Amino acid sequence: MKICFNQATTMKKSNLEMDLILSEKIGYDLIEIRLDKLRDYLRTHTVRDLADFFKTSRLRPFAFNALEGIIFRDGTAYGQIKEDLKFLCEVGDQINCKKIVVVPSFDIGDYTKTEIKDESVRVLRDLGAFAEKYNTKLAYEFVGYPNCAVNTFGQAYEIVKAVDRDNVGLVLDCFHFHAMGSRLQDLKAADPDRIFIFHIDDAEDLPIGALRDDKRLWPGEGAIDLDAILSTLRDIGYHEMASVELFRPEYWELDIEEAIRVGKEKTEEVVGKYFPIG
Ligand code: ZN
Repeated sequence: MKICFNQATTMKKSNLEMDLILSEKIGYDLIEIRLDKLRDYLRTHTVRDLADFFKTSRLRPFAFNALEGIIFRDGTAYGQIKEDLKFLCEVGDQINCKKIVVVPSFDIGDYTKTEIKDESVRVLRDLGAFAEKYNTKLAYEFVGYPNCAVNTFGQAYEIVKAVDRDNVGLVLDCFHFHAMGSRLQDLKAADPDRIFIFHIDDAEDLPIGALRDDKRLWPGEGAIDLDAILSTLRDIGYHEMASVELFRPEYWELDIEEAIRVGKEKTEEVVGKYFPIG
Protein backbone atom coordinates (compact mmCIF):
# COMPACT_ATOMS: atom_id res chain seq x y z
CA MET A 1 0.00 0.00 0.00
CA LYS A 2 1.43 3.36 -0.97
CA ILE A 3 1.25 6.05 1.71
CA CYS A 4 -0.17 9.41 0.71
CA PHE A 5 -0.31 12.80 2.40
CA ASN A 6 -3.52 14.81 2.12
CA GLN A 7 -2.99 18.54 2.54
CA ALA A 8 -6.08 18.96 4.73
CA THR A 9 -3.94 17.59 7.57
CA THR A 10 -1.79 20.76 7.67
CA MET A 11 -4.38 23.06 6.14
CA LYS A 12 -4.09 26.07 8.42
CA LYS A 13 -0.39 26.93 8.58
CA SER A 14 1.27 25.16 5.67
CA ASN A 15 1.19 25.70 1.94
CA LEU A 16 1.73 23.53 -1.12
CA GLU A 17 5.43 24.27 -1.39
CA MET A 18 6.09 23.27 2.23
CA ASP A 19 3.85 20.21 2.07
CA LEU A 20 5.66 19.04 -1.05
CA ILE A 21 9.14 19.49 0.38
CA LEU A 22 8.28 17.92 3.74
CA SER A 23 6.27 15.00 2.32
CA GLU A 24 9.22 14.21 0.07
CA LYS A 25 11.69 14.54 2.95
CA ILE A 26 9.64 12.31 5.26
CA GLY A 27 9.24 9.69 2.57
CA TYR A 28 5.62 9.65 1.46
CA ASP A 29 4.97 8.02 -1.90
CA LEU A 30 2.07 10.27 -2.87
CA ILE A 31 0.38 13.59 -2.16
CA GLU A 32 -3.19 14.81 -2.61
CA ILE A 33 -3.23 18.47 -3.57
CA ARG A 34 -5.98 20.82 -2.40
CA LEU A 35 -7.53 23.15 -4.97
CA ASP A 36 -7.28 26.19 -2.65
CA LYS A 37 -3.61 25.45 -1.88
CA LEU A 38 -2.88 25.02 -5.57
CA ARG A 39 -4.43 28.41 -6.35
CA ASP A 40 -2.33 30.04 -3.59
CA TYR A 41 0.80 28.37 -4.95
CA LEU A 42 0.13 29.61 -8.45
CA ARG A 43 0.13 33.22 -7.24
CA THR A 44 3.90 33.02 -6.86
CA HIS A 45 4.79 29.95 -8.94
CA THR A 46 3.91 28.44 -12.29
CA VAL A 47 2.55 25.03 -13.18
CA ARG A 48 5.98 24.44 -14.72
CA ASP A 49 7.55 24.94 -11.27
CA LEU A 50 5.24 22.27 -9.91
CA ALA A 51 6.03 19.91 -12.79
CA ASP A 52 9.76 20.52 -12.20
CA PHE A 53 9.40 19.61 -8.53
CA PHE A 54 7.90 16.25 -9.43
CA LYS A 55 10.60 15.61 -12.04
CA THR A 56 13.23 15.53 -9.32
CA SER A 57 11.19 14.03 -6.49
CA ARG A 58 10.22 10.53 -5.50
CA LEU A 59 6.88 11.93 -4.35
CA ARG A 60 4.06 11.69 -6.92
CA PRO A 61 0.81 13.66 -7.14
CA PHE A 62 -2.16 11.32 -6.77
CA ALA A 63 -5.33 13.43 -6.76
CA PHE A 64 -6.82 16.90 -6.44
CA ASN A 65 -9.28 17.71 -3.61
CA ALA A 66 -12.00 18.71 -4.37
CA LEU A 67 -14.86 19.97 -6.52
CA GLU A 68 -17.58 20.47 -3.93
CA GLY A 69 -21.35 20.52 -4.07
CA ILE A 70 -21.68 19.16 -7.59
CA ILE A 71 -25.39 18.19 -7.61
CA PHE A 72 -28.58 20.26 -7.78
CA ARG A 73 -26.68 23.39 -8.78
CA ASP A 74 -27.96 26.28 -10.86
CA GLY A 75 -26.40 27.18 -14.20
CA THR A 76 -23.90 29.70 -12.82
CA ALA A 77 -22.66 27.49 -10.00
CA TYR A 78 -22.41 24.47 -12.28
CA GLY A 79 -20.53 26.55 -14.84
CA GLN A 80 -17.96 27.37 -12.16
CA ILE A 81 -17.62 23.67 -11.29
CA LYS A 82 -16.93 22.89 -14.94
CA GLU A 83 -14.38 25.69 -15.12
CA ASP A 84 -12.62 24.36 -12.02
CA LEU A 85 -12.71 20.88 -13.52
CA LYS A 86 -11.07 22.15 -16.70
CA PHE A 87 -8.42 23.97 -14.67
CA LEU A 88 -7.59 20.85 -12.65
CA CYS A 89 -7.56 18.65 -15.75
CA GLU A 90 -5.12 21.04 -17.44
CA VAL A 91 -2.81 21.29 -14.44
CA GLY A 92 -3.10 17.53 -13.96
CA ASP A 93 -2.03 17.02 -17.54
CA GLN A 94 1.23 18.85 -16.89
CA ILE A 95 2.10 17.16 -13.61
CA ASN A 96 0.53 13.77 -14.35
CA CYS A 97 -2.12 13.98 -11.63
CA LYS A 98 -5.08 12.09 -13.02
CA LYS A 99 -7.69 11.92 -10.30
CA ILE A 100 -10.09 14.53 -8.94
CA VAL A 101 -12.29 14.19 -5.84
CA VAL A 102 -15.87 15.37 -6.40
CA VAL A 103 -18.26 15.90 -3.50
CA PRO A 104 -22.07 15.81 -3.35
CA SER A 105 -24.11 18.79 -2.11
CA PHE A 106 -25.39 19.54 1.40
CA ASP A 107 -28.77 20.76 2.64
CA ILE A 108 -30.54 20.10 -0.63
CA GLY A 109 -34.03 19.82 0.86
CA ASP A 110 -36.47 16.96 0.49
CA TYR A 111 -35.16 15.06 -2.50
CA THR A 112 -35.63 11.30 -2.38
CA LYS A 113 -32.72 8.88 -2.64
CA THR A 114 -33.84 8.03 -6.16
CA GLU A 115 -33.83 11.69 -7.17
CA ILE A 116 -30.37 12.14 -5.61
CA LYS A 117 -29.12 9.09 -7.45
CA ASP A 118 -30.54 10.23 -10.79
CA GLU A 119 -29.08 13.72 -10.39
CA SER A 120 -25.69 12.32 -9.30
CA VAL A 121 -25.61 9.95 -12.26
CA ARG A 122 -26.50 12.76 -14.69
CA VAL A 123 -23.83 15.12 -13.31
CA LEU A 124 -21.12 12.47 -12.95
CA ARG A 125 -21.69 11.33 -16.54
CA ASP A 126 -21.41 14.91 -17.76
CA LEU A 127 -18.28 15.74 -15.74
CA GLY A 128 -16.86 12.28 -16.42
CA ALA A 129 -17.21 12.72 -20.18
CA PHE A 130 -15.28 15.99 -19.93
CA ALA A 131 -12.54 14.53 -17.70
CA GLU A 132 -12.17 11.60 -20.08
CA LYS A 133 -10.66 13.93 -22.68
CA TYR A 134 -7.77 14.42 -20.26
CA ASN A 135 -7.64 10.77 -19.29
CA THR A 136 -8.65 11.85 -15.79
CA LYS A 137 -10.77 9.98 -13.24
CA LEU A 138 -13.40 11.38 -10.89
CA ALA A 139 -13.81 9.99 -7.38
CA TYR A 140 -17.19 10.71 -5.72
CA GLU A 141 -16.70 11.22 -1.98
CA PHE A 142 -19.74 10.57 0.20
CA VAL A 143 -19.63 12.64 3.39
CA GLY A 144 -20.78 11.12 6.69
CA TYR A 145 -22.91 14.08 7.76
CA PRO A 146 -26.70 13.74 8.05
CA ASN A 147 -27.21 16.77 5.80
CA CYS A 148 -25.05 15.52 2.92
CA ALA A 149 -27.11 14.22 0.00
CA VAL A 150 -24.90 11.13 -0.29
CA ASN A 151 -23.67 10.01 3.10
CA THR A 152 -23.06 6.25 3.13
CA PHE A 153 -20.79 3.91 1.22
CA GLY A 154 -23.74 1.85 -0.02
CA GLN A 155 -25.53 4.89 -1.43
CA ALA A 156 -22.37 6.19 -3.15
CA TYR A 157 -21.50 2.78 -4.52
CA GLU A 158 -24.92 2.34 -6.08
CA ILE A 159 -24.50 5.71 -7.78
CA VAL A 160 -21.07 5.08 -9.28
CA LYS A 161 -22.21 1.67 -10.44
CA ALA A 162 -25.17 3.26 -12.19
CA VAL A 163 -22.93 5.92 -13.78
CA ASP A 164 -21.18 3.01 -15.47
CA ARG A 165 -18.11 4.90 -16.68
CA ASP A 166 -14.59 3.55 -16.23
CA ASN A 167 -13.38 6.98 -15.11
CA VAL A 168 -15.97 7.48 -12.36
CA GLY A 169 -15.47 5.75 -9.00
CA LEU A 170 -15.53 6.67 -5.35
CA VAL A 171 -13.51 7.78 -2.36
CA LEU A 172 -13.65 5.57 0.69
CA ASP A 173 -12.93 7.78 3.70
CA CYS A 174 -12.88 5.83 6.99
CA PHE A 175 -14.24 8.83 8.90
CA HIS A 176 -17.21 9.24 6.57
CA PHE A 177 -17.74 5.49 6.46
CA HIS A 178 -17.94 5.31 10.25
CA ALA A 179 -19.75 8.60 10.88
CA MET A 180 -23.08 7.63 9.31
CA GLY A 181 -22.85 3.92 10.01
CA SER A 182 -21.96 2.63 6.53
CA ARG A 183 -22.18 -1.16 6.40
CA LEU A 184 -19.15 -3.42 6.11
CA GLN A 185 -21.24 -5.84 4.07
CA ASP A 186 -21.56 -3.15 1.37
CA LEU A 187 -17.78 -2.75 1.31
CA LYS A 188 -17.36 -6.54 1.23
CA ALA A 189 -19.56 -6.69 -1.87
CA ALA A 190 -17.72 -3.86 -3.64
CA ASP A 191 -15.52 -4.13 -6.72
CA PRO A 192 -12.11 -2.78 -5.60
CA ASP A 193 -11.63 -1.17 -9.02
CA ARG A 194 -14.45 1.26 -8.16
CA ILE A 195 -12.49 2.55 -5.16
CA PHE A 196 -10.21 5.21 -6.63
CA ILE A 197 -8.99 6.80 -3.37
CA PHE A 198 -8.76 5.59 0.23
CA HIS A 199 -8.70 8.24 2.99
CA ILE A 200 -7.49 7.03 6.37
CA ASP A 201 -8.19 8.72 9.69
CA ASP A 202 -9.88 7.99 13.00
CA ALA A 203 -12.49 9.75 15.13
CA GLU A 204 -13.72 10.49 18.61
CA ASP A 205 -16.44 8.19 19.88
CA LEU A 206 -19.61 10.13 19.08
CA PRO A 207 -22.98 8.67 18.05
CA ILE A 208 -24.01 8.20 14.43
CA GLY A 209 -24.73 11.55 12.83
CA ALA A 210 -22.88 13.62 15.45
CA LEU A 211 -19.34 13.54 14.08
CA ARG A 212 -17.83 16.49 12.25
CA ASP A 213 -14.41 16.81 10.62
CA ASP A 214 -12.84 18.56 13.62
CA LYS A 215 -13.30 15.33 15.64
CA ARG A 216 -10.92 13.39 13.40
CA LEU A 217 -7.94 11.75 15.08
CA TRP A 218 -4.72 10.13 13.92
CA PRO A 219 -5.33 6.60 12.60
CA GLY A 220 -5.40 4.12 15.48
CA GLU A 221 -6.23 6.69 18.17
CA GLY A 222 -10.02 6.71 17.95
CA ALA A 223 -13.21 4.70 17.78
CA ILE A 224 -13.31 3.71 14.10
CA ASP A 225 -12.95 0.00 13.47
CA LEU A 226 -10.03 0.46 11.09
CA ASP A 227 -9.11 -3.22 11.47
CA ALA A 228 -12.47 -4.19 9.99
CA ILE A 229 -12.17 -1.72 7.10
CA LEU A 230 -8.55 -2.61 6.30
CA SER A 231 -9.09 -6.37 6.51
CA THR A 232 -12.13 -6.02 4.25
CA LEU A 233 -10.12 -3.99 1.74
CA ARG A 234 -7.48 -6.71 1.77
CA ASP A 235 -10.11 -9.40 1.29
CA ILE A 236 -11.72 -7.68 -1.69
CA GLY A 237 -8.32 -7.00 -3.24
CA TYR A 238 -7.84 -3.26 -2.81
CA HIS A 239 -4.21 -2.44 -2.08
CA GLU A 240 -3.33 0.74 -3.94
CA MET A 241 -2.93 3.59 -1.47
CA ALA A 242 -3.89 5.07 1.90
CA SER A 243 -4.03 8.84 2.26
CA VAL A 244 -3.91 10.36 5.72
CA GLU A 245 -6.54 13.11 5.86
CA LEU A 246 -7.22 14.98 9.08
CA PHE A 247 -9.05 18.23 9.66
CA ARG A 248 -8.32 18.59 13.36
CA PRO A 249 -7.68 22.14 14.59
CA GLU A 250 -5.24 20.94 17.31
CA TYR A 251 -3.15 19.18 14.69
CA TRP A 252 -3.12 22.34 12.56
CA GLU A 253 -1.30 24.00 15.46
CA LEU A 254 1.49 21.41 15.47
CA ASP A 255 4.82 22.05 13.86
CA ILE A 256 4.18 21.26 10.20
CA GLU A 257 7.02 18.79 9.78
CA GLU A 258 5.98 17.06 13.00
CA ALA A 259 2.37 16.73 11.80
CA ILE A 260 3.45 15.31 8.44
CA ARG A 261 5.81 12.84 10.14
CA VAL A 262 3.28 11.69 12.74
CA GLY A 263 0.67 11.22 10.01
CA LYS A 264 2.96 8.83 8.19
CA GLU A 265 4.00 6.90 11.29
CA LYS A 266 0.44 6.45 12.54
CA THR A 267 -0.82 5.44 9.11
CA GLU A 268 1.95 2.91 8.57
CA GLU A 269 1.38 1.41 11.99
CA VAL A 270 -2.30 0.75 11.28
CA VAL A 271 -2.06 -0.13 7.58
CA GLY A 272 1.08 -2.22 8.10
CA LYS A 273 -0.90 -4.83 10.03
CA TYR A 274 -2.73 -5.76 6.82
CA PHE A 275 -0.57 -4.64 3.91
CA PRO A 276 3.07 -4.35 2.98
CA ILE A 277 3.96 -0.64 2.94
CA GLY A 278 5.18 0.94 -0.28
ZN1 ZN B 1 -11.83 12.36 2.69
